[in-house]
Amino acid sequence: SAVLAGLGLTKKYGTTVALDGVDLWVGTRDSVAIMGPSGSGKSTFLHTLAGIVRPDGGEVLLQGQAIHKLSENRLSALRRKHFGFVFQSGQLLPELPAEENVALPLMLEGMSRREAVARARRWFTPLGLNGLEQRRPGQLSGGQAQRVAIARALVIEPDVVFADEPTGALDQGTSEEVIRLLTSVTREQGAALVMVTHDAAVAAHCDRILHVRDGRISNHAQYTVA
Ligand code: ADP
Ligand code: ADP
Repeated sequence: SAVLAGLGLTKKYGTTVALDGVDLWVGTRDSVAIMGPSGSGKSTFLHTLAGIVRPDGGEVLLQGQAIHKLSENRLSALRRKHFGFVFQSGQLLPELPAEENVALPLMLEGMSRREAVARARRWFTPLGLNGLEQRRPGQLSGGQAQRVAIARALVIEPDVVFADEPTGALDQGTSEEVIRLLTSVTREQGAALVMVTHDAAVAAHCDRILHVRDGRISNHAQYTVA
């Protein structure tokens, strides 16, 4: 059964059809890469599944619950609890040590700083970040900073991790290392992964690759599961 499903999703911006009726089922521990040319609708697809963009038509279901019609407040509460996000870069707060950056989503949920930091530290070993807990983002390499961002996405133990060009700012070797950790640690956590990437070598680490063109999935038959 699907942890996340998008059914018949459509989205228009004026006369531009950004999403033209796409379906996606994502299972627990499943990983999906969304690829396609610039302007094909990848970001709109990701943002619609993540409850950031509201579809004009269709449904988004999280564990069977329709989330596309929730109020803005309930939707943002649901995102904070169930979804982790990894972006291309620049998502860490520069003035905070790495461990506090990772702890932040827990503190925003009301956990004490002490307990949140203790929980945050547990993610440093699986992500190969031992000893870097006190470093500020400016003292980390690009790959290290992305691994801290992955820890921050996972610390809430989300159902789904959404990653938007997570290796877009990294060189090839570093991309490889980061994507290997992102896919493996997300799977170990029991979360699904939905990712947009331009890099075929990065996408190849996912269970499935969807090719989007003109707001539609062009390799639909290859991935659809009942
Ligand atoms: P990407 O390289 O990820 O495709 P874009 O440059 O296409 O990024 O888009 C960056 C942001 O701008 C996204 O949030 C997208 O929704 C928004 N955007 C894209 N195209 C337009 C547009 N024509 N008008 C307004 N916002 C847009
Ligand atoms: P991609 O991520 O594949 O580059 P997007 O989802 O960003 O594609 O955009 C798909 C289409 O929708 C593009 O034509 C883009 O210009 C348009 N678009 C995206 N976001 C907006 C927006 N906020 N306002 C207007 N047009 C947008």
